[in-house]
Amino acid sequence: MAAVADRAIAGQGTPEAQWLPWLAHQPMMEIDAAQLVPPGCRAVVVAPHPDDEVLAVGGLLAQLRALQRPMLIAAVTDGTASHPASIAWPPHRLAIERPLESRRAWQTLGLDVDRMTEVRRLGFDDGGLMRQRGPLARQIAALLRPRDVVFTTWRHDGHPDHEATGQACAAAAACVGVRLIEVPVWAWHWAAPGDARMPWQRAMRLALDAGAARAKREAVNAFASQLEHDPSTGAGPILRDTTVQRAQRPFEVFFS
Ligand SMILES: [Zn+2]
Repeated sequence: MAAVADRAIAGQGTPEAQWLPWLAHQPMMEIDAAQLVPPGCRAVVVAPHPDDEVLAVGGLLAQLRALQRPMLIAAVTDGTASHPASIAWPPHRLAIERPLESRRAWQTLGLDVDRMTEVRRLGFDDGGLMRQRGPLARQIAALLRPRDVVFTTWRHDGHPDHEATGQACAAAAACVGVRLIEVPVWAWHWAAPGDARMPWQRAMRLALDAGAARAKREAVNAFASQLEHDPSTGAGPILRDTTVQRAQRPFEVFFS
């Protein structure tokens, strides 16, 4: 997988056995879903690839659903570049399957798609978002309303598409004048406890109730294309065991 500068996404990444004891003692502002998205506001989740919305904010989405908050999920790409040179998962199959996997995951989270939850597929090229940040920022800005709260991948997350989406959302949110919350996804993989590259002073922790934590855990199972070995290339799963275990945390961490 591509990497940005010193934030390489390789191997299994930092395991939860290292993160969890450290996070348990790391001072962080505690915040709840109603504070993050106050009454009268809409949550806009901008996902570079189908699965990022669940890995980043799946628990929050389940809680916002319980609060009856309106939501918009913007899928920036269809995730067609996840299996280079694969016969089992060619781009045209991924373009069909990955958005369907997201739909199944949202159902597991209890989202009421097409009524309380609007969905937009933006159709950008998977793997090419760094070159398309300007058009992406303009498309996102056009979706935003004054009382939105935007959630997206952290602009230094390590995956080029995640960083490009974080940067585009920052530009769009500033243009419209709405709040932006960035979420580390791959950063948990390349960083280590106490890593000075992560902005811990801006970190907030959302505790997940048992129902939201279970829904997120089960929602991740919808991403079959990302969880299986590829027999045609010999490549291992895109979402490693460490990634799946991270999605089982009873909390989510955001950067304000
Ligand atoms: Zn992604």
